[in-house]
Amino acid sequence: MKKRILVTGGAGFLGSHLCARLLDEECQVLCVDNYFTGTRHNVEPLLNHPAFEVMRHDVTFPLYVEVDEIYNLACPASPIHYQHDPVQTTKTSVIGTINMLGLAKRLRARILQASTSEVYGDPDVHPQTETYRGLVNLAGPRGCYDEGKRCAETLCYDYRRQHRLAVRVARIFNTYGPNMHPQDGRVVSSFIIQALKNQPITIFGSGTQTRSFCYVDDLVDGLMRLMGVEGDLDGPINLGNPYETTIKELAELIISLVGSRSKLEFRALPQDDPRQRCPDIARARELLHWQPMIPLREGLNRTIRYFDSLLSSPSEAKKIIWKVAS
Ligand code: NAD
Ligand code: UDP
Ligand code: UDP
Repeated sequence: MKKRILVTGGAGFLGSHLCARLLDEECQVLCVDNYFTGTRHNVEPLLNHPAFEVMRHDVTFPLYVEVDEIYNLACPASPIHYQHDPVQTTKTSVIGTINMLGLAKRLRARILQASTSEVYGDPDVHPQTETYRGLVNLAGPRGCYDEGKRCAETLCYDYRRQHRLAVRVARIFNTYGPNMHPQDGRVVSSFIIQALKNQPITIFGSGTQTRSFCYVDDLVDGLMRLMGVEGDLDGPINLGNPYETTIKELAELIISLVGSRSKLEFRALPQDDPRQRCPDIARARELLHWQPMIPLREGLNRTIRYFDSLLSSPSEAKKIIWKVAS
């Protein structure tokens, strides 16, 4: 029988790619989403697949379904989205994760929690290893997301200890690719759209802050390998690309790949913006035999093609306007 897999947040950026890959692997996929930041557009190509089902549901409410594995991805991920309704963001991470852990407990199903490099905050250890405990400002504008995700992790470890649940925690670092929301304000999507429109590239601060960008196909491969690890697994695993770049370098690369006439425009740095971020992926290499394969240039070219076709088809773009755009 086909493995039945629940993907919460399945209509979002990462979730939609994960659903597609799971269908390729002959799984039966139940995609659960409340469409806060995800869209039907992202899963439209999958809707006719006989093993694919979509359910509109908010994970902060209990969910009674029958599945073998759960990927818990539901949660807005971009700063402008998660700061739009910070209380709901924390609820989604904390109550949503309790519900998904409760579901996993009843079914004795394996569960993978999508955590984040944000649990490290503005790190004073570089690159970040899983043992680093982080430097998060719980009172700042990013606190709803960072602390929500930290609490979700704690819940996973406690369900593992208390209820002997098979949990997998992925600390995902910045990931990019097709199906990113065009209005999510994240750096890759914003810069590409600005470059395609020959508009100024908005660099926050001096652009010397760093990030490490992982292409979505690599990330999804890492998530599936993590879910597939046999036996008990203790603690989180970093998943991300250790190739680090400054935001200014990223802007210049995107301008050159697009062949854009855009100029750089420097704006104020948002509060608590991490100065540097780069994963140490030794644990993923060892346990999952995983490392990103797609270089930044190639991933950016694929993402540029996606946004280019989206912008040149207004009817497609219209389908993914964010309802509560800032
Ligand atoms: P996204 O915003 O595209 O996807 C999140 C999905 O969750 C959306 O479809 C949204 O509608 C849905 N959702 C939000 N709240 C919900 C709720 N209460 N009930 C049901 N569905 C809900 O973001 P993404 O980039 O695809 O991120 C997916 C997951 O990966 C998130 O948990 C995020 O925190 C994590 N993550 C992503 C990145 C990244 O760079 N993309 C980095 C670190 C962690
Ligand atoms: N839950 C759910 N689906 C299930 C089982 C549980 O949504 O199939 C939710 C339920 O609402 C509960 C939460 O998961 O609030 C935690 O469940 P657990 O069994 O761990 O705790 P309890 O029910 O004892 O509070
Ligand atoms: N950033 C920027 N211009 C933008 C959007 C983002 O300079 O238009 C910067 C942002 O300040 C941060 C980095 O790019 O330093 C990554 O931002 P993003 O929101 O993509 O992810 P996160 O901060 O959560 O890593």
